[in-house]
Amino acid sequence: MKKNIKICPLCGNREIKFFRKGNIKLENLSPNDIKITDSQYGKFWDLFACKNCNYIFSSALASANIIHSLYKEIKDPEYDEEAENRSLNFIRILSFIEKLKPEKGKLFDVGAATGILLNLAKKRGWKIDGIEPSKWAVNYALNKYGLRIKEGIFEEAELSENYYDVVTMIDLIEHIPDPVTGVKKAYKILKKNGILCIVTPDVRSFMAKFFGKRWWHFRPAHLSYFSRKSLTYLLKNSGFEIVKERKYVWTFSLYYLLSRFKIFTPLLKSHRISSLWKRIPLKLALGDSIEVYALKK
Ligand SMILES: [Zn+2]
Repeated sequence: MKKNIKICPLCGNREIKFFRKGNIKLENLSPNDIKITDSQYGKFWDLFACKNCNYIFSSALASANIIHSLYKEIKDPEYDEEAENRSLNFIRILSFIEKLKPEKGKLFDVGAATGILLNLAKKRGWKIDGIEPSKWAVNYALNKYGLRIKEGIFEEAELSENYYDVVTMIDLIEHIPDPVTGVKKAYKILKKNGILCIVTPDVRSFMAKFFGKRWWHFRPAHLSYFSRKSLTYLLKNSGFEIVKERKYVWTFSLYYLLSRFKIFTPLLKSHRISSLWKRIPLKLALGDSIEVYALKK
């Protein structure tokens, strides 16, 4: 498979170097390995880097069918346990979007998961729409929030063009096999002057360099990794103009943080302690994710 990597999926450059030796095999992958709350840190693909645009990508990008079929099967009840803290992240994003689009309008969330962001946006007066491959998550959003999220793959879905005021891709493009098609599709469905918001880990951040292969974003679910340079390249090349770029601040509970590490598992078994820790929000300015807002010209 390594021999097939001859061209950068982002910019088409042919100077590709080996970035990091991974430890995952596609044939062993299960839906549990790529669910949002997986804690399989330190497991990642063989990674390659483009010398021109800085994009870092895995050979898994070439196996879109397998990846998509795994996403359809994902069940992740743990994800919604963090709904309150995830809401704090999404409210910050929606508040910023509303500075750019105070009139609100139609918002489309790609990879809507259990509908936390869409539910918040709806309450704030947006007309909402979204898509999500996991059948479980789509049903969950319907049962919990009464939301009708489309079940499917964004890149392949039939959607109205020049229709939405805002498209959100929060922690999404590092998961999908074809980010170029994904961002171009967002461009198509947005109206002129529409806004695309992307949040994704920054592989060139201080944290990523400091922790090396132990960086928490090196996970089976992440098929490729962006930096400011490669994300800027992707957006500009798809017709967008970047209007704002900032570092993403994460909020999650103390429980969630500890549950990422196997060493704390025995400690978290007590229901009384766990439920307390789930209520303690942590706000971490790790600076290792990029949050970018781009305008369709
Ligand atoms: Zn490239």
